[in-house]
Amino acid sequence: MDKRPLKKAPSSLALCLACGLCCNGVIFSDVRLRGDDKAALKKAAGCELRKRRPGRLAQPCQFLDKRQCSVYRHRPGYCREFECALLKNVKGGELTAESALRMVRATLSKVRHVEKALGSLGDTDDTMPLRIRFERTLRKLQSSRVDLRAAVHVSELTLTMHNLTCALSRTFYPGE
Ligand code: SF4
Repeated sequence: MDKRPLKKAPSSLALCLACGLCCNGVIFSDVRLRGDDKAALKKAAGCELRKRRPGRLAQPCQFLDKRQCSVYRHRPGYCREFECALLKNVKGGELTAESALRMVRATLSKVRHVEKALGSLGDTDDTMPLRIRFERTLRKLQSSRVDLRAAVHVSELTLTMHNLTCALSRTFYPGE
């Protein structure tokens, strides 16, 4: 596997390596594969691709190693093309790398809050995208009787997920 770091300006590199939100199932639930993407990935990784839908690489990505892409030189076209709004703002000089890094850390903290709230409600499946975990947890609870303690966890979960969704759409991916 290719363990080389991202080839970007130092500030962008530090930002992406501190983040990982576009690969870890928080912003996206999968990546569309096209052309030679699948063959290149399989050759580089030497393993089958984890898919939930045909023609798509499931996220959280199996190739994310901590917050670094382990198949960077062979990553799919969409991964090559994607730049989040935060990175664009840093590259465009509208935001300093330090401010962006603080925003990344604040957002990762929100992700941890959501994961903790999900865990309190019995969902610890970190192989699934965060939004899917959130929605299925709510569905499961809606179809069962919840006690007061669970109801408190549900309201915490809903609030933390709302905060996270706002942060993602405001800062990283306005299209979401
Ligand atoms: S292949 Fe690499 S860049 Fe693409 S989603 Fe997976 S870890 Fe991220």
